[in-house]
Amino acid sequence: MEPSLPVAPALAIAGEWIAGGVGTHERALASPEVVDLGGRCVLPGFNDSHVHFPTWALAQRQLRLEGTASLDEALERIAAAAGEVQPGRWLRGTGWRSGDWSPPQEPTKEALDRVTGNTPAALMARDYHSLWLNSAALAHANGELEAAGGVVVRDDRGEPTGVLREECAWHFRDTYVRPTEDELLEASREGVRIAVGRGVTAVHDKDGWLGALGVWQRLRDEGSLTLRIWQSVPAEQVDELAALRIRSGFGDDLVRVGYLKAFMDGTLGSQTARMLDGSGVQITSREALAEIVRCGAEAGLPVAVHAIGDLANREALDAFAETRAVWQPLGLRPRIEHAQLLDAEDLPRFAELGVAASVQLSHAPSDRDLADRFWAGKTAGAYAYRSLWDSGALIANGSDAPIEELDPWAGVCAGVLRTIDERPAWHPEQRLTLEEALQATTVNPAWLARDERRRGKLIPGYLADLVVLDRDPFQVSPEALPQVEVVATMLGGRWVHNAPPWE
Ligand SMILES: [Zn+2]
Repeated sequence: MEPSLPVAPALAIAGEWIAGGVGTHERALASPEVVDLGGRCVLPGFNDSHVHFPTWALAQRQLRLEGTASLDEALERIAAAAGEVQPGRWLRGTGWRSGDWSPPQEPTKEALDRVTGNTPAALMARDYHSLWLNSAALAHANGELEAAGGVVVRDDRGEPTGVLREECAWHFRDTYVRPTEDELLEASREGVRIAVGRGVTAVHDKDGWLGALGVWQRLRDEGSLTLRIWQSVPAEQVDELAALRIRSGFGDDLVRVGYLKAFMDGTLGSQTARMLDGSGVQITSREALAEIVRCGAEAGLPVAVHAIGDLANREALDAFAETRAVWQPLGLRPRIEHAQLLDAEDLPRFAELGVAASVQLSHAPSDRDLADRFWAGKTAGAYAYRSLWDSGALIANGSDAPIEELDPWAGVCAGVLRTIDERPAWHPEQRLTLEEALQATTVNPAWLARDERRRGKLIPGYLADLVVLDRDPFQVSPEALPQVEVVATMLGGRWVHNAPPWE
């Protein structure tokens, strides 16, 4: 990924570090240990720039409702899982999206009650912005479901239907359905193994609110953390960090406090994205975000803000623009997460301001039907990765797992192909090249984590964090990219997945 030396036939590694690229005619390697790649290809390790890691890890073990084509099909799966829940435990699940269901139907507590009985059930929507509950679950809240920035969906009589959105959904989850740290630890330990098997060597985690820092430290101490973590902390906790003088970058080689996380709006799938047409849900106002950015800057922490709708993005950019004199001289690296729908006027502002677009290349093809429906007539500015790239914006690629699978290579393919099925590319004019998609998955996330002088490229003095692929992706046709496979992964000079020899 170094433009001045894009390809080397061999690589020397000394301890944790890259010692140099080695040409065909040199035999400068002093070490007796030589790995013959046998025609395979080495790239810098993948960095997932947006992942809810413990939540994703936990979701690997929960009821999954992805791909259900109707409410009835979802209920069948729920009924089967409900029978397995131990007495006194919650039935937890994720992945439903009522927009996918035909006939079109919204979920209700009554439908859920029929298949779950007295077992409390909490089922997160695929976008994690809506929560579907049964009566046994609702009973825990004693009718206190409202929260600022959220919606309690109610029927004609004013009765909650069982669906909560945005802050109401999260408040309920955090109060009544929160997993224990041990549950998160067990799941994350296994999750690290899965991620490393997909060539991941670093993540920007978004689960600071869930206590991810505690989980990472325990995994590190027991020796099972083989990823580098750049951690978010909820913006509401800025005072606690400031009181302790914990600034961005605090931590060690594996686990570091990175940035504050805030939310402007909801999502496309829940139809809560905040739009210039006046629809959607406001979670944080422009003024409130500006205040968060100021407080963050004072404490030495950049802000990452979730913004999906075109108005949410405009107001987030406005807030960064109006506070520019505060954060820019400090060298803080702010970012907008998702940047999903942009008005043409706002698109160049990412580059102008130096605000990174932390996007999910896989969202474009997997959201195409919803976007065509809910954002009809506006999709020219949706998932506009090519336009952002050409404007000079810094693009970082993440999965937003568990919303998409934690699989950076799948994201790279989605960015290049703009399709994940047999259909032709969706808005092919917004495709990235393979080179660019890889840069968004290696070099750019390392820059966001202030690691641009030690990660993201394989050049002398950089950490030997790398992935071995079964073939050179630059030598295959774009259509064949999804067939490229991860063979092995190295972190800091140590094999952490499938050490050689390989057959
Ligand atoms: Zn997310």
